[in-house]
Order: sequence, then structure tokens, then C-alpha cells
Amino acid sequence: MRLSRYFLPTLRETPAEARIVSHRLMLRSGMIRRASAGIYSWLPLGFRVLKKIETVIHEEMTAAGAQAVLMPTLQLADLWRESGRYDVYGPEMLRIADRHDRDMLYGPTNEEQITQIVRDDIRSFRDLPRNLYHIQWKFRDEIRPRFGVMRGREFLMKDGYSFDLDFEGAKRSYNIMFVAYLRTYARMGLKAIPMRAESGPIGGDLSHEFIVLADTGESAIHADKRLFAMDPRADGVDLEGDLEPVVKRWTSLYAATDDKHDPATCPLPAGDLVEARGIEVGHIFYFGTKYSEPLGCAVTMPDGERRVLHGGSYGIGVSRLAAAIIEASHDDAGVVWPDAVAPFDVGLVNLKSGDADCDAAADDLYGKLRGAGVEVLLDDREERAGVKFADMDLIGLPWQLAVGPRGARAGTVELKRRAGGEKHELAADAALQRILDKSA
Ligand code: ATP
Ligand code: MG
Repeated sequence: MRLSRYFLPTLRETPAEARIVSHRLMLRSGMIRRASAGIYSWLPLGFRVLKKIETVIHEEMTAAGAQAVLMPTLQLADLWRESGRYDVYGPEMLRIADRHDRDMLYGPTNEEQITQIVRDDIRSFRDLPRNLYHIQWKFRDEIRPRFGVMRGREFLMKDGYSFDLDFEGAKRSYNIMFVAYLRTYARMGLKAIPMRAESGPIGGDLSHEFIVLADTGESAIHADKRLFAMDPRADGVDLEGDLEPVVKRWTSLYAATDDKHDPATCPLPAGDLVEARGIEVGHIFYFGTKYSEPLGCAVTMPDGERRVLHGGSYGIGVSRLAAAIIEASHDDAGVVWPDAVAPFDVGLVNLKSGDADCDAAADDLYGKLRGAGVEVLLDDREERAGVKFADMDLIGLPWQLAVGPRGARAGTVELKRRAGGEKHELAADAALQRILDKSA
């Protein structure tokens, strides 16, 4: 992509309404624009990040045996009356009437909708377990939308749902998601710690929120300091094998959100306890037959017994993640995107657009990078070098390649790694090779 043709409205000034760094940087780097309270448009750069986050989620969900579907945003109120939630869900639910005066709602979540699908089309115990998810916009009329997309009213969520024949099966489904979540966040360059969370009316301990540490986070957390030294990548773990030991390793160390924390019963000495703030980027929980029972989601067992299915739900805040990643990865100059979610891999800066040598060298590199499948943003604008470098740092692409008049004639470029900032003057082909090796 050539920046001269790209819609990237960066801002020099810090917008007054933004109180946390991710919100400031998302506005300044032209990722998002506010449409109304808690409702945002995603501009090209931001939309690319959203798609990258989705890709990581899709890959990890697929590896974990979950299948992508797409359910609608608008749902029938009658379906929610069946579960009893229509009247319980408060003013956060956006209620709408269609032209026939039928009550509808903009889905804040999809337990009812997915349970209806499974109820209507899964009849045999042989068809279980199943794990279905989608990535779809949600609406919750939050009392205090704030911090940009961090707490929006309309926001993108991945929500998945598992269906099993019994508790044992549901627990296995839960463990698979637990490990898949560790892997998902780690691939995005995040350390998200699973913490025991409120499980709602069913009780039990199968409820974890995944939390990224950040001073600006809305959740207060209390956790064993050893958790922060653990490697969440869960590399080499066989998702089809027994995951109980992996889950145990994480859950045997104390970690609780405020709701679950009780200083009186917390087993940790003060020196081992990290008390901090964090951002909830996901929540998984087992809810038993809470929706299957009222909606009649059941199968017939070989002996003729009617078995009501056990469910779990697994949410990831997709749009919130874009902000959470920035909270975790930025510096004074701007965003520092982790490779997996960066909107482009390389920012190629032509330091003197219009200079024949510079243009030829930049175009040559641009073509070679694209030919090798690298996503590159070429700054070919007629701007001062300082402006171009500042914009590149602001938008935070993992690699920067700068081509100036002297280098263009000598066949060299300056390669900079955005994270860490180390720079090297290299032959153009060597720089290219270094990028290809690292992104392989
Ligand atoms: P919170 O405690 O932050 O209000 P929640 O517990 O209501 O979230 P869930 O119903 O568990 O959220 O939704 C799953 C995920 O969706 C959350 O972990 C979070 O990452 C994301 N999410 C929830 N509400 C919002 C929101 N208003 N804006 C952006 N993301 C959200
Ligand atoms: Mg939650």
C-alpha cells in the first residue's frame, strides 16, 4: 500500500477526550473515530488490526476443534423470554420493535440463539460434543462507556459455546478453551493471566477471566507473583490429550479478581501477592443446563433417556483487545505492534520522494517485499523526513526501512526494529533477507 493513496488521518495533537494511552494512540494513529458515545468507526489501519486479531482467534479456535458460525446481531425477544432473561436483563439491553411491532433486541450475547440452533438440529448423543463460535458485534448500553473501544456500547466479541452430554464432557471442553485462550493471547504478544471469577448462580469453580495487567484496567486483581513468571504459550501441548495438568498448573496458584478475593482467606503472604489492576480480555465459564433446560435442548441416549445438554460459554473482547495490546505495548513515540497483529509488517520510508534514485530504490524494495508476501506500507508522500519518521513510529509497524538519497546510490538502507529501536545500515538485499527470516 502506498501511503499517498491510503486513508490514514494521523493527528499531531492529543485529543482532549482521550484519557488513557490506548485511546489517545488509536485516535492519533487514525485507527478509529467516534460516531457517538461508545460507538466507533474503524478506519483502514484500525480495521486491519481488528482483522489480524480475528485471524489469530480463528486459527487457535480451529486448532482447538471449535467451528466458526455467524449468528445475527438482531434477535427475537421471544427467544429470550424462553430462557427468562428478557425481563431480567436490565437497561443494558437495546430493545427494538420491528414494523410488525414484534419485540426484538440487539444481542448483548448469544447463549439463547446458539442453544436454539443446537436444540433444533442436534438430536443424537452421537453428535456431541460440539463447540461453535462466532465473531460478531454486540450491543450493551453500558452506563459509563469510556476509554474508546475499551468499554464501548457496540463492540466486537468472539463468543463460543460448547455442548456436552455431562459435566465430565463439559469440563473437558472447558479445559480445551482454557489452554486455547492461553495460546491465543500469547500469540498476540500478551500475558493474560487466568483468574478465578464470579461464576454466577450455578456456582462451581469453572469460571475464569483472562486479565492483562495495566494500571488503567478496570479490574482489581490479586495474584500469586509466580504466575507472572510462567510461560503462557503452552507450546507443544496436545489439545487432544489430557489438559488437566496444564489447567492445574495455572489454577493451583492463587489469582482472583476483586469479586472473588477475600483477604481473610487468601493463603498468600503479602510478599508473594501482586495487587494490581488489569483489563479483562476474555471470560470462560461453565453454566451447566442453565439455557438447555428452559429451551429444551436435549438428546436421546442409547437407553432412551432424555439428556439435557451441559453448556459453557467462552468470550473474547476482540475490539477491546486492540486497545489492550496498545496499553501493553507502546512507548512515548507511539504504538509498538507485536508482529501477529500489526496492520502491516513493514513501513518503507522514502526519505526523498521525487528524487529519481530514492524513488527507484524504494519501488524496488516495495516490489520485492510484496512479492515475498510481506505486507508493506510505503511512505511515498512529499513530506519532510521528520514527519515521515514520526508517523511511522506513531503507527508502530514492527519494521521500518528507510531509503535516502545517499543510500539509494550506494544500495543501502536503514533497517529499524520498532520494538527496542535498534538500527542498522545494511545492503538493501541483506535488510530484505533479515525481514524475511524474522517473519518466516
Ligand atoms: P466487563 O466485566 O468488562 O463488563 P463482562 O464480564 O460483562 O465484561 P463478558 O460478558 O464476559 O463481559 O464478555 C466477554 C468479553 O467481552 C469480556 O471479557 C470483554 O473482554 C469483552 N467486553 C465486555 N463488555 C465490553 C464492552 N462494553 N466493550 C468492549 N469489550 C467488552
Ligand atoms: Mg466477565
